[in-house]
Amino acid sequence: MRTRKSPRMMKKTTNSRLRRWLPAAAALLLVAGAANGAAPEDALRLLQRADSIKSTHHPEFVGILNSLNARAAQLSVAQREYLSYLTAWNAVINGDNETATGMLKRLILQAHDVTLQFRARSTLMNQEELTRNYDEAYLELDRLVQLLPRVADKGAREQALLNASQLYRAVGQTDLSLRYAQMLMDENYAGRGTCRGGQQKVAALFESARQQSVDADVRAITAACVEKGDLLYANDINMHVARLYISQNKLDEAITLLKDHYDEVVRSQYPRMLAEFDALLADAYRRKGLAVLAEKFASDSVTHSGQGHYPATMARALGVLYELAKKQGDFRLALAFHEQFTAADKGSLDEVSARQLAYEKVVHENIADKLQLAALNEQKQVLQLQKELAAKAVENSRLYIALLLTILVFIGLWAYRVKRSQLHFMSVARLDGLTGISNRPHFIGGAESALEHGRRTRQELCIVLFDLDHFKSVNDRHGHAMGDYVLQQTVAMCRQLLGAEDLFGRFGGEEFSILMPGCGLAEASARAEQLRRAIAQIVASSGGTESPVSASFGLASTAASGSELRQLLAHADAALYQAKRTGRNRVVIYDSGIVLDETAVAELVEQPTPEMPPPRSKAG
Ligand code: GH3
Ligand code: MG
Ligand code: MG
Repeated sequence: MRTRKSPRMMKKTTNSRLRRWLPAAAALLLVAGAANGAAPEDALRLLQRADSIKSTHHPEFVGILNSLNARAAQLSVAQREYLSYLTAWNAVINGDNETATGMLKRLILQAHDVTLQFRARSTLMNQEELTRNYDEAYLELDRLVQLLPRVADKGAREQALLNASQLYRAVGQTDLSLRYAQMLMDENYAGRGTCRGGQQKVAALFESARQQSVDADVRAITAACVEKGDLLYANDINMHVARLYISQNKLDEAITLLKDHYDEVVRSQYPRMLAEFDALLADAYRRKGLAVLAEKFASDSVTHSGQGHYPATMARALGVLYELAKKQGDFRLALAFHEQFTAADKGSLDEVSARQLAYEKVVHENIADKLQLAALNEQKQVLQLQKELAAKAVENSRLYIALLLTILVFIGLWAYRVKRSQLHFMSVARLDGLTGISNRPHFIGGAESALEHGRRTRQELCIVLFDLDHFKSVNDRHGHAMGDYVLQQTVAMCRQLLGAEDLFGRFGGEEFSILMPGCGLAEASARAEQLRRAIAQIVASSGGTESPVSASFGLASTAASGSELRQLLAHADAALYQAKRTGRNRVVIYDSGIVLDETAVAELVEQPTPEMPPPRSKAG
């Protein structure tokens, strides 16, 4: 059997007292008079006074409520909410469930003060439990326990912790019940936590059969309750102890304990406890074979239990009556008691299972909520990951683009360098290193193309070969560097006089060739003369000595020599040698009278490109 106590215990007591006290109108009027016309600061004082006496001086409490409600318009919002809470509390006591529930739910939603919200929830839970709305009661308990860490008010906490410990105990959640009982003892509000928390602790330990003896701790808690004047709590412990004694067949100890405190219980006017004390005495006496006493207390218990309000207590008393009737051979009566016993026992079991179901439902709903929350969190995480992945993909493609661009730039640079070195090698292969004009093979290639073009367009071309005179002696007198300088000066002078159409090449050593397209012999001769004069202006000098520079020119034209390069070169070369022979520093045009040197012609066209051609013997 489970016993409910604390607020509920007080409310039942107050309820029965209330019925007796209601005619005490004089007291009410007295208090109402005191409350009327009070200043607002007095209103708060009155509210606090009403709160502190609500379970001990009920008529005064009701008087204050009535007077404050009459001038509610003059109160502050906070005061009106406080008054509303106390009024709801009173409605619970009066059994006005509808009013109480409505007011408490409004406060839970709207009260500005968290503590008041919390107290309203706590009272609502109590109310739901009293009216056996276990679903609601355990739901409120769950919310209340969650709110606990946010509430500092010791009184409000005491009420909630007590309710929590009690409600968990009622569904066999011993550990949870013990946890809140211990918190009550530790917080020890108004010095009564040791008793109130201790009573919950003893009840939880005994009901779960975790403790099966009355030790010093149990005695100390009972003593603490007596000392504080909390006799209801002390007798609840005594009731548990008596139950234990009976189960252990310590019948005399049980009877002594129950009888020692019987008067206190009668004075307390708490019907539930009185009914249980009676039932336990009846049980103990029957077991001892004292049938008359047993029947008396069993009948009293049934009377005190009312209309099945406490089915477990009722079942214990009816069980005793059944056993007694059976023993007396009154089977008809025995059957009647047994039927009533069965109904009460079933009622008790129904109550237990209704609580259990309500509790399980809340637990499962919590688990479902947590699972849903976990699923939502997971979904959130997946979305987060997807977002991160997308960001990473963007980052990766940026990196790929950057990489690609780098590779492209690299390839571009590489291609540019390759092209540059290609061009460099090409020019190195085509040009003469000292003077920068075409070397012989390149000149010959260009000349072949120009002649071919001239053939097709029937255009006349002239070729000029010239060779510096006595160049060996320039080298000998002024050094090789001066010789090089003279060669470069010669090319520079000629370039100034040559056109874009003309091909200019170094044939080897100090010998040069010029192809003049679209140019007849007369014009070519004049231009060769110009070149000769220009070269003759160059002076080689070193160490105070100077040497004049000059060149000899040989000239041939396609008109006279045909458009075969070999032939043209041979004729120009023959003319050049003619110029050498006839005194140097002059221009000679080929004519049929000039003798050809066939070996020299072959060398001119076919030999590879020597930077310094082998010297040829010349006359002069
Ligand atoms: P000629 O009037 O008969 O042509 O007499 P020459 O001295 O000019 O002719 P020869 O063939 O005997 O000598 C040519 C000289 O040119 C020989 C060689 O050392 C010189 N020579 C050839 N190529 C270069 C060069 O690139 N630089 C310098 N400094 N001298 C060169
Ligand atoms: Mg020469
Ligand atoms: Mg020479």
